[in-house]
Amino acid sequence: MHCAELPAGPARPQGAAGRAPDRVPTAAAGALGPAASRGRRQRHAAKGNGIPDENGTHPSKAIERLLFNNRQWAKHMASKDPKFFPKCAEGQSPEYLWIGCSDSRVVTNTITGLQPGEIFTHRNVGNIVAHGDLNCMSVVEYAVGSLKVKHVIVCGHYGCGACDAALRMPMETPGMLNSWISRIRDVKHMWASSLEQLPEEERLPRLCELNAITQALHMCDSAPIQAAWAAGQELCVYGMIYGLGDGALTSLIGPISSAQQAREARQSFEKSGGAVGAASNGVSAVA
Ligand SMILES: [Zn+2]
Repeated sequence: MHCAELPAGPARPQGAAGRAPDRVPTAAAGALGPAASRGRRQRHAAKGNGIPDENGTHPSKAIERLLFNNRQWAKHMASKDPKFFPKCAEGQSPEYLWIGCSDSRVVTNTITGLQPGEIFTHRNVGNIVAHGDLNCMSVVEYAVGSLKVKHVIVCGHYGCGACDAALRMPMETPGMLNSWISRIRDVKHMWASSLEQLPEEERLPRLCELNAITQALHMCDSAPIQAAWAAGQELCVYGMIYGLGDGALTSLIGPISSAQQAREARQSFEKSGGAVGAASNGVSAVA
């Protein structure tokens, strides 16, 4: 065991922070091409500031706000540490890989207090780790095989819209999103009897936890992780959950640092009957 134990967060009250599911993200509406951006930069440079007029008629006010914020941030970072950006440009050596939900409220660097360069990140709807997902698996392969990250965190969150959709969206609903969340629906089906015993308001937070643990175990079973462990690479996997209502990040499972530990963690999880809660090592049943 080379990985430091992470302190367990506070046990979450039943149903806490899970009653306000997020809206399931929709496709971004439109995009600005480079030519359009150039044109706006030139116009605003001519006006002498980076902020659009306050007349409400500017079509890209939201984007101008973003660009303005970026310039302020870059200026602040450079004044604080003149070597910050030159060092970033030289390369990266992050210690962590994070797989999280795309939800706008679960912002990896913000909630972990880490700076650019410290955490390699992949986010998708529902923090799903699917072995057939080339996007996710490419990220894991690169982070583990090339960057040699030491900690892999799969993080769900309470109030997850993807889990809520898996609970409530009819299976016959057309569209890609329904197909994508079928992986969470599988988790729901696996733990159906356990979930059905709970009061309705507790089912979503429990499914959010079950999904985070399941995806962390999928991570353990993935080829890049198994190959790293077989080669003796120091690498720990964790499943965590984030509370939208209190900002707390809680460890549900892990550190898992070998194929043997992964097998034991899966057995423990399956024996728990889906009655999981906050734990610092392995899965603990909730009384
Ligand atoms: Zn989510």
